Amino acid sequence: MTLSFGRDIFMTPGPSIMPDTVLNAMHRAAPNIYEGELVDMTRSIFADLKTIVGTNGHGVIYICNGHGVWEAALSNVLQQGDKTLNPATGSFAHGWADLARKMGFCPEIMEFGKSRGMEPAKIESRLREDKSHEIKAIMITHTDTSSGLRNDIVAVRAAMDAAGHPALLLVDCVASIGCERFEMDVWGVDVVVTASQKGLMTPPGLGYVFFNDKAAKIADATPKPSPYWDWAPRVKAEFFYHQFSGTAPTHHLFGQRAALDMIMAEGIENVWNRHEVFARAIWAAVETWGSDGPLYLNVKNPARRSNAVTTILTDGFNCTPLRQWCEEKAGLTLGLLIGFDNYDNGFRIGHMGHLNPPMVLGALATIDAGLKALKIPHGKGALTAASQIIANS
Ligand SMILES: *Cc1c(COP(=O)(O)O)cnc(C)c1O
Repeated sequence: MTLSFGRDIFMTPGPSIMPDTVLNAMHRAAPNIYEGELVDMTRSIFADLKTIVGTNGHGVIYICNGHGVWEAALSNVLQQGDKTLNPATGSFAHGWADLARKMGFCPEIMEFGKSRGMEPAKIESRLREDKSHEIKAIMITHTDTSSGLRNDIVAVRAAMDAAGHPALLLVDCVASIGCERFEMDVWGVDVVVTASQKGLMTPPGLGYVFFNDKAAKIADATPKPSPYWDWAPRVKAEFFYHQFSGTAPTHHLFGQRAALDMIMAEGIENVWNRHEVFARAIWAAVETWGSDGPLYLNVKNPARRSNAVTTILTDGFNCTPLRQWCEEKAGLTLGLLIGFDNYDNGFRIGHMGHLNPPMVLGALATIDAGLKALKIPHGKGALTAASQIIANS
């Protein structure tokens, strides 16, 4: 018998839970796409996104998902045959590198595994070897959504500076913007890509690229195979229409505006803090379950764990029935394991965006019930451990 007759809860790492306010804002007639409200509102969306990303640089909106902005960013700053260095800590790093290869660039993967994080010294020494500066860009993910690992962007920048290497630093922030602290300009990041459907709480469909003057200058000298991805006509657009290379994504923009209103009202520091509290509550629960059973956190070092997604593993223990029990019996959808050898040996909890303690504690209590129903061994007291973190916050 299913008990799932309330609102279904998605704890997957994207798309995240869409707030009613956002959905309601999209439920309206189409606006004038040449002048008036939409034009002013879009200007305010850029202003708020730049605050959240931490940049005074340039911003562009593409009608696409994360894969689209991966491609957009590369096609502006790289030329056929250009080399890139791709330090990897999970499958999103490999996905972006694969895409670079298919586009005619030459990515070099520097593998750091899925659970420990990057070693900046290795990046520095590889860059020092590259005396003729053949490497044009370093491509990294801030949070790798498969492993739940958050990379130290400041340390990577410091390694580049120590090597005196001029490559651009490109960072994939699809999973982290709106969930984790990010300071593009202060951290010395040249290009950021992100998208609407995770911490930014808006349905998939808006892709964002932010870039500084250094990247803009390189882009000016780069031949553009795709006029659609070319960011220059979009930032220099005389008419609103040209900002989108055609019709604006009208209703997504209304939704994104509503989501940004929520973020700005809460305050971005509070948003980041709330995500950190929820992440710690989830880790406390998993660690307690794991004290007497097969579950454990993929990332051992708390400083390297993402505040947006947690990857939980077992060695050889099948978690698929647990995920299915949570979904069918209780209406809680958990994330699949991706990028690991066996897809059954773990699961992911997405904790991004529109969440409060009843949602997080409810999800943990549901998993706890699933462990009991399926007689999966687990340590006792996970919910107490999680609620203590919320209580102390
Ligand atoms: C979700 C995600 C992507 C891909 O986004 P899509 O919208 O699915 O194309 C890329 N990178 C990271 C880090 C992500 O979390």
